[in-house]
Amino acid sequence: MPKRAILMCSCSFACPSMVNLNFPTFIERVRLEIPHDYMVVHPRLCETNGEALMEDLLKKDGITYITAACKIEKQAKLLRDGFQRAGVPMNEKTWKPVSIQFKTTEQAFEDVKKAVEEVGE
Ligand code: SF4
Repeated sequence: MPKRAILMCSCSFACPSMVNLNFPTFIERVRLEIPHDYMVVHPRLCETNGEALMEDLLKKDGITYITAACKIEKQAKLLRDGFQRAGVPMNEKTWKPVSIQFKTTEQAFEDVKKAVEEVGE
C-alpha cells in the first residue's frame, strides 16, 4: 500500500462555499479517526508559498496525496504547478482529490475517509 498523505487546503478559512465546514473539528477528526501516514493543513495551497511547500514536500514514489480542497476540476488546474514543481505527475497513483466545498463537516469527513480508504484498497 502507498503511504497516504492528506493535504488539506482551508482556502484561507474564508471561502463562502466552506461556510458549513467547521475546520477545527473537521481537521481534528480526520487526524484522529482516519488511518493515514500524515496530514498537512495549509491556508492556500494554490498560491506561491503553498506551491513552495509542495515542491519541498511531495515525493514521486510510494505515496498518494489525498488533497481536500475546492472542486476537483479546479484543483486539477490550481494544484498543477505545485505538483509540477515537485516533479510529481498528477495521476491515479499519486493524487486523489476530494472536494470539500458545499459540504457539512460530517460530509467532508466522510468523503475524505472514503478517499483515504480507497487508496488503501
Ligand atoms: S486550492 Fe482551491 S481551496 Fe485551496 S486556496 Fe486555492 S482555490 Fe482555495
